[in-house]
Amino acid sequence: MSQAAPSETTPTETATETRTFPLSFSVTPSEAARSVVEREDILADPGFGKKFTDHMVAIDWTIAEGWYNARVMPYGPLQLDPASSVLHYGQEIFEGLKAYRHADGSIWTFRPEKNAKRLQRSARRLALPELPAADFIESIKQLIALDGEWVPSAPETSLYLRPFMIANESFLGVRAAHQVGYYVIASPAGAYFADGVAPIKIWLSTEYSRAGRGGTGAAKCGGNYAASLLPQMQAYDNGCAQVLFLDGETSSRIDELGGMNVFFVYGTDTLVTPRLTGSILEGVTRDSIIQLARDRGMTVQERDVTLGDWQEGVASGAITEVFACGTAAVVTPISQLKGPGLEIGDPDAPAGRITMALRQELTDIQYGRLPDRHGWLTRLDVPVGTE
Ligand SMILES: *Cc1c(COP(=O)(O)O)cnc(C)c1O
Repeated sequence: MSQAAPSETTPTETATETRTFPLSFSVTPSEAARSVVEREDILADPGFGKKFTDHMVAIDWTIAEGWYNARVMPYGPLQLDPASSVLHYGQEIFEGLKAYRHADGSIWTFRPEKNAKRLQRSARRLALPELPAADFIESIKQLIALDGEWVPSAPETSLYLRPFMIANESFLGVRAAHQVGYYVIASPAGAYFADGVAPIKIWLSTEYSRAGRGGTGAAKCGGNYAASLLPQMQAYDNGCAQVLFLDGETSSRIDELGGMNVFFVYGTDTLVTPRLTGSILEGVTRDSIIQLARDRGMTVQERDVTLGDWQEGVASGAITEVFACGTAAVVTPISQLKGPGLEIGDPDAPAGRITMALRQELTDIQYGRLPDRHGWLTRLDVPVGTE
């Protein structure tokens, strides 16, 4: 049965592309687009991840043709053969970034080239094809060209962009799929902390890991999230908002939360975050916080932090603040770590001063309230395909 024979080629080695960049997109406007009133109604209270814009992006890939058929089309269900490999073997990756509306009405996104590169790294790990960065950025501009009105303007709101890639070949053999789809959907997002930034309690999972050595921890893939959901439920059951994972090898080092990186403030001038071991997701927010802290003259250390370090640091007063960070919630203060027979920190502690200053500076840059001194912003509401 020739179909089941292992493939001699990996997706990324084939389909040498002799095209121009970026791909050109065909556009099919939705005939069911929401009215201005309906849209404004949604944007007045969007929540997170519940409502979607009128359009979506799709690009197809096959091992023979490479990337082709780039299009913007009405938002709607995907047609998937029940044998699609993503449904059986979880060959899927995603990204998350935001479009921000500035005071002058213009629309911007934050360091999208980092997301493009990370999607490529995730693709390599999941044996999916790499989407060229130019196509990634163009796909977002194309979607904003039709759905720009969906970027809300109230303080701390944004349009959350969710690019993702799935293996959609109809084949139950176990190998990297020869047919793949890349999509972008967008969802208006309200202020994450509607009533002001509130510190959270987090739950230490002593039973489960999200990643192991050589695993997929550094890739942004759905499988990592699937594995985090049971411990996340345990976090809720214990009154905590998020789950914290230790490294899978020694269960002593702090890795990260289910979907956020973690930072410790030592004294007033040192910021410490776990080094990238291969089982930690390399957050764009993490990288940006490191830069902003260095700009402030803080010492930043990327190193191992053990559970013992955390416990002793809080007990001695050396650790003054702890926070988590990621695109969705930006920077979230952590008041307490709880676990079986464990409580570190004061659940009633207010948000830390340095935590809040870094949060403020980062959002000020993202919303255009401070100069973009590192060239982190890309304007999205520009005529597409013209740069
Ligand atoms: C996406 C993600 C983060 C945060 O990354 P950002 O680029 O800052 O949004 C952190 N940890 C995990 C596991 C993630 O999936």
